[in-house]
Amino acid sequence: MNFIDKDYIDKLLCEAKTVSDEKINEILNKADRFEGLSHSEVAALLSTEKKEHTERIFQIANKIKQHIYGNRLVLFAPIYVSDYCINKCAYCGFNCEHKYERKRLTMDELKEEVRILEKMGHKRLALEAGEDPENCPIEYILECLKTIYSMHEGNGEIRRVNVNIAATTVEEFKMLKQAGIGTYILFQETYHKPTYEKMHLAGPKKDYEYHLTAFDRAMQGGIDDVGGGVLFGLADPRFEVIGLMLHNEHLEENFGVGFHTISVPRIRKADGAISTAFPNAVDDEIFLKIVAVIRLAVPFTGMIISTRESMEMRKKLIHIGISQISAGSSVEVGGYAARERSEPQFRLADDRSAQDIIMWLMDEGFIPSFCTACYRSGRTGDRFMSLAKSGNIKNVCLPNALTTLLEFSEDYGSKEFKEKADRIIQQELSNIASEKVRALVTENLQKIRNGERDFFL
Ligand code: SAM
Ligand code: SF4
Repeated sequence: MNFIDKDYIDKLLCEAKTVSDEKINEILNKADRFEGLSHSEVAALLSTEKKEHTERIFQIANKIKQHIYGNRLVLFAPIYVSDYCINKCAYCGFNCEHKYERKRLTMDELKEEVRILEKMGHKRLALEAGEDPENCPIEYILECLKTIYSMHEGNGEIRRVNVNIAATTVEEFKMLKQAGIGTYILFQETYHKPTYEKMHLAGPKKDYEYHLTAFDRAMQGGIDDVGGGVLFGLADPRFEVIGLMLHNEHLEENFGVGFHTISVPRIRKADGAISTAFPNAVDDEIFLKIVAVIRLAVPFTGMIISTRESMEMRKKLIHIGISQISAGSSVEVGGYAARERSEPQFRLADDRSAQDIIMWLMDEGFIPSFCTACYRSGRTGDRFMSLAKSGNIKNVCLPNALTTLLEFSEDYGSKEFKEKADRIIQQELSNIASEKVRALVTENLQKIRNGERDFFL
């Protein structure tokens, strides 16, 4: 099954070159009404190079971000559990040709990592592993999930573990679902099949169709919360964005729900990678435009960037659509306990500590949120989407952001942090429209100050 029709996308991109200004303005007006975009409209916006069009794209992206997500920003941390890998992805330092000492965390080592992450205040993790059925079978991943959820350091606890592991079978997806995973995340890397084949030289991931249909199997296994993404820099970014749209629609049509999130990683130099030159590498300006166009195209889908982006880029990206970022991350197996010990998978652009990043976010006018409520209240899949589309999601997100920020502040904040967080919480309380909800949140905030934890709507 291949629902990514290359010729169709090529044709759209070709036609997009001749779209009139009048048509572009029509498309922008549609986006401004939060109606999303069709494939040809996405292609047109990605292709226009006129300054006035680009400026309006950014302005609408900012408006959508504000209206749907407000100034909240959800935080998470990646946790690398194993770098054994039998694939030969040309861009990745974990590729099987790279000779170095591989590592898989023992449960004691994992506990140490989780302890550190909990002490940093994290509540949401993205578990990452290379693909190796012998050295890192599904049973190991399930054991990791069990261990992570069982850990409680002080008031700390991990409440949601998203999982970014190789495409697998319906049976194994069922096991992951039973183990309580949050989002199943998998990047297609590139939707452009000829490029995919050039970049994936050996191993199970080499099979484009098997990789592409992983979310179909995840849904069949009962996972209704999936996160897609591409690795920008491999093929024409405009092709990739339309690929993401087609994939999203395929899932909506067949399972009633598309991507919960879209990740937008950009290729970075990795030690031991096979390819080092990427002619399609995306510069900052184009990258910002891509993120903004995705925001216009699928207004209700969360968007994630990682530590791979610099502080300056993060700041800009957050304003035009990003709703989740990582903070204080390590991309090494066992990296939180010994950042310097093993080989980093790729170099990070933003290596500030979690608390520094959170403080900076507050200074920039954002509300850092450690919320994990949707998944824990069963608001996943189409239940989440209908709440998001009705505009009611912010009535729960803002309260949850404020209670989780106060938890963080009480448990881990310095004096300066506490003062700043208190000010923001006080200010934002008045933005909760419903009087009843405001009263409930005020009561819960007081309970948190008195030592109780884990209130969510
Ligand atoms: N092994 C699983 C997979 O490949 O889907 C999941 C873990 S893998 C480490 C997670 C992601 O890292 C990949 O999907 C890829 O997009 C990203 N990655 C690999 N090499 C990268 C690089 N040089 N720069 C940026 N991201 C990279
Ligand atoms: Fe292995 Fe994933 Fe890296 Fe490919 S991207 S080499 S599958 S860890």
